[in-house]
Amino acid sequence: MTERIFIGVAWPYANGPLHLGHISGAYLPADIFARYHRLKGNEVLMVSGSDQHGAPITIRAEQESTTPQEIATKYHQQFLDCWQKLGISFDLFTTTDTQNHAQVTHDIFLTLLHKGYIYKDKMFQAYCPKCRRFLPDRYLEGACLYCGFPKARGDECDECGKPVNPSDLKDPHCYLCSTPVRFESSEHFFLRLSAFQDKLAAWVKEQSHWRHNVLGTTWKFLDEGLKDRAITRDIDWGVSIPQSGFENKRIYVWFEAVIGYLSATKEWAKLRGDDLAWQPFWQSGAKNYYFLGKDNIFFHTLIWPAMLMGYGSLNLPYDVPANEFLTIEGRKLSTSRKWAVWLPDYLERYEPDSLRYVLAANMPETGDSDFSWREFLRRNNNELVATYGNLAHRVLAFAYRNFDGAIPTPGELDEQSRELLHKSQASLDSVDSLLYRCNFKEAVREAMSLAREGNRYLDEQAPWKTIKEAPGVAAKSIYTALSVLSALKTVFYPFLPFSSEKLHSLLGFDGSVKEAGWKRQSLSPGQRLRQPQPLFVKLDDSIVTQETSQVGSVEGNQNVK
Ligand SMILES: [Zn+2]
Ligand SMILES: [Zn+2]
Repeated sequence: MTERIFIGVAWPYANGPLHLGHISGAYLPADIFARYHRLKGNEVLMVSGSDQHGAPITIRAEQESTTPQEIATKYHQQFLDCWQKLGISFDLFTTTDTQNHAQVTHDIFLTLLHKGYIYKDKMFQAYCPKCRRFLPDRYLEGACLYCGFPKARGDECDECGKPVNPSDLKDPHCYLCSTPVRFESSEHFFLRLSAFQDKLAAWVKEQSHWRHNVLGTTWKFLDEGLKDRAITRDIDWGVSIPQSGFENKRIYVWFEAVIGYLSATKEWAKLRGDDLAWQPFWQSGAKNYYFLGKDNIFFHTLIWPAMLMGYGSLNLPYDVPANEFLTIEGRKLSTSRKWAVWLPDYLERYEPDSLRYVLAANMPETGDSDFSWREFLRRNNNELVATYGNLAHRVLAFAYRNFDGAIPTPGELDEQSRELLHKSQASLDSVDSLLYRCNFKEAVREAMSLAREGNRYLDEQAPWKTIKEAPGVAAKSIYTALSVLSALKTVFYPFLPFSSEKLHSLLGFDGSVKEAGWKRQSLSPGQRLRQPQPLFVKLDDSIVTQETSQVGSVEGNQNVK
């Protein structure tokens, strides 16, 4: 039975280039999951877009003396380019700066307002006497109430990861000019989050399939008790407020960005000429998954579900497989300290599949994990090149040379060959169920262990010896090994889409892996192979010193000023 799978991926701020932390945290796992489900024949919709609002954009615009619009447009283009090169297969990657998004946001805002889940109240907002304006939370700096970190911002503490309110900061001052701020009263709208406390707790209790870290974080907020939150601000960049008297204020970014999942689905439906095509992905019968980093859990397991509950008749999240953080060379990744590996830099120098493989094999699913160039080199050379790539190349080259460029007729299979084919089916089943449960790291390990089995089999069968005195035996070994490759191009496809398509073609198949589906596609004796080529490129040891010295250096971060 086919399933309907909605995949929402956290919206990146269009204020700077993507780095490996973004990819390993959200975009790669989401893409692996989408490709897997498409191969299974399920109906998949994967959407996201660049978050063009919010203080990170306006801060960057002020630093570069340009407009928020220009910053957002520039990075949105760069994101699109990165998705294409890395093979992140969005069905739609839009932006929050569309008419459609504003309309959907207004609809949700007004519905919640009429139902009493949004109300008007006064709040004190930080005002900088030197800059002579109200400051967005992100422009406010001070010591964190929870952990004492002196450079916490008015929306979140980067050290302990807790969302904070501007009033939670000690010695609050302006982030741009360091002047102490004063708080002035201003009228705003609030989301009555407290009204959803019991309903959310009851709902979260049913989510036993969620990851431990996601449940843990969610319960921490629930146990502390949910507080109402202001959803508008005295700013001029963002979605307007559909109420008179609020022309100079805007809807705050965290409230509208999550609505992007719904508005992007509606935009996707319009683009394909069927305005109602969004509905099946938001109604019973569909499963809604959200991929994001752990700092975003609160917004996806509590805030967005509360908004959906209040609005009514739309699917709540089915799963939120949030990842922990990726460290770089043993140190916490930090864009402000420029300690990062930038995706555009990587894509200029190396193959997309190598990165996809290394990040998947080391995905921070249950705890933080580290990316180092030494580990990157080791996995690329020892696993992709020497294990999987080597198996594929020697089998394909041997077949091409000794059997007239075609798949040989195997005759009757011996015990060992039957056993290996059995294992390749078992591997397909096992990777299938691991991916179904979002266990990406274990799934890619399982796929690689099938490649190891293939190498072991080939070494024992030694067709290069049997080809002379018993070519029929060699034909059987090579046929079996080619069949294993046919399973490998499938189990590796979600992780390594480019090399899987290549292997698919080298094996002589037409069309794409996606059209072939989740199976070991059977080989017909006589099927023409294509001229063998290596699947992966071996990298030189020197990249380790070279690349490591670039992390955190100005040269390595030319995209960032
Ligand atoms: Zn100031
Ligand atoms: Zn803190």
